[in-house]
Formats: sequence, structure tokens, C-alpha cells
Amino acid sequence: MGRRKVQCKYCNRVLSGGVWHLKQHLVGIKGEVVPCSRVSSKVRIQFCQYMKEKETSKVNITRRRQEIREELSAPPRRSVDAIHLSRGRQTIDLDDDEEEHFRRASQASRRSFAEEDYLRRTG
Ligand SMILES: [Zn+2]
Repeated sequence: MGRRKVQCKYCNRVLSGGVWHLKQHLVGIKGEVVPCSRVSSKVRIQFCQYMKEKETSKVNITRRRQEIREELSAPPRRSVDAIHLSRGRQTIDLDDDEEEHFRRASQASRRSFAEEDYLRRTG
């Protein structure tokens, strides 16, 4: 608990949310923390820029990671897609065949049943 507490060196307010809350306090982000009343606007702007830069670099890192991941996964993914496509076509063919087979089988059985019935009646 204690290690998460930080004290603002400008207004001596103790913040329980750690460094992140101290930054929010100094920048003056409303919501979770009370904005600092003592920090100079110069420091505030510096913190604001620092946080923005950090956010931008974080976004850049995430974007770069995505790019790397896409670069790495692009060739195998493409071949996997090709396999999936050919497999999908095969599966569709198989399904059609099966359906056709089943329809024929059921027609045949129905016919044979009718024939049997006919034969039974006439014979
Ligand atoms: Zn403060």
C-alpha cells in the first residue's frame, strides 16, 4: 500500500495512485485526481508534452509491432488462406456429392419401397 503513495513536491499532497496519479495531478487531468494548484504552468506543459510523447511513442511501438507481426505472418498466412480456399472448394464438392448421393439413395430406397409395395399388392 505504502509504496504506491507518492507525494507531490509542489503542493505536498499525497497521492495514493502512484506515479501515474502524480502525473495526472501535475498535468491537471480531471477525474481521478485533484489537479495540482501549486505547479507552474511551465512544468504542467512539460508534463503534458511528456505524456503526449509517451502516448505517441506507445502508439508507434504498437503500430510497429503490428507491422512486424504482419510482415512475419504474411507469407504463411497467405498460403494458409490458399489451403483453406482449396480445402473449402473440396469440402463444398464433397458436400454436394454427399447430398447428391444421399438424395439418390433416398430416392432409390423410396422407389424400391414403392416397388416392393406394388409387388406386394399385385403379387
Ligand atoms: Zn501538487
